[in-house]
Amino acid sequence: MELTGKYALVTGASRGIGLAILFALAEQGATVIGTATTQAGADNITAQLKEKNYPGMGMVVDISDRDSIKTLFEQAVAHYPRIDILVNNAGITRDNIFLRLKDEDWDAVINTNLNSVFHLSKLFVKLMLKERWGRIITVSSLSGVMGNAGQTNYAAAKAGVIGFSKSLAQEIATRNITVNVVAPGFIATDMTATLSDTLKDAVTGSIPMKRFGEPEEIAATVAFLASPRASYITGETIHVNGGIYMS
Ligand code: NAP
Repeated sequence: MELTGKYALVTGASRGIGLAILFALAEQGATVIGTATTQAGADNITAQLKEKNYPGMGMVVDISDRDSIKTLFEQAVAHYPRIDILVNNAGITRDNIFLRLKDEDWDAVINTNLNSVFHLSKLFVKLMLKERWGRIITVSSLSGVMGNAGQTNYAAAKAGVIGFSKSLAQEIATRNITVNVVAPGFIATDMTATLSDTLKDAVTGSIPMKRFGEPEEIAATVAFLASPRASYITGETIHVNGGIYMS
């Protein structure tokens, strides 16, 4: 129970990797807020936490909207005394080859996957500075470090959060606030469920471990970075991908 007494907020916790992160942090004793884009999704998070007897609740946010982020922040501080751990997990894809990529698909992905990390971190870091303790962990992607044809928008955003995190880490290191990134490879969630079987087979063949990862395997890494055991790790990106990316 390494996170007893800590308060954590995980965006995109209604399903997939975010839900696994929410449970992993709660299992370690943290009080958790998980976000969804709908009230039904938030209520479902609250119900799932209650079922497992974990303290915490679901809240609604659209991270592509700055006002919605502000409302989330206000709600979070109205319910809990502080937020020690911010996990920027929510993200979307709007894939297309570059020449066909629409402006709105570029904007949606940059707003949701990159600009949100700036806006959320800006608000929540103030609470961490007061406490002189904090963890900001952002979920990037293999695409952000390797690039991926058809994902110029997504890769740019996911690379962006790495540069952002390294820079912020340097600014606030002396305050005991670490800023790190987890970069998953191919993980079995709704996001990859839409890939064709042919593509899934081709991808699986190129992964040294010959399988997609499970959300819990990303969550375990996030929980480690949130824990006191990771107190001297900052500005890092941990790659969790079954060996598909070795640099
Ligand atoms: P997912 O199953 O598609 O779930 C996406 C989550 O993000 C949902 O909780 C969704 O909420 C939330 N979300 C979407 N748009 C949002 C918005 N505008 N505001 C707030 N929340 C929003 O995705 P996942 O596979 O778990 O991915 C989680 C993170 O890992 C993402 O950042 C993704 O880029 C990254 N990642 C995933 C993989 C992979 O293979 N799956 C690989 C590398 C990186 P609702 O349920 O309410 O829609």
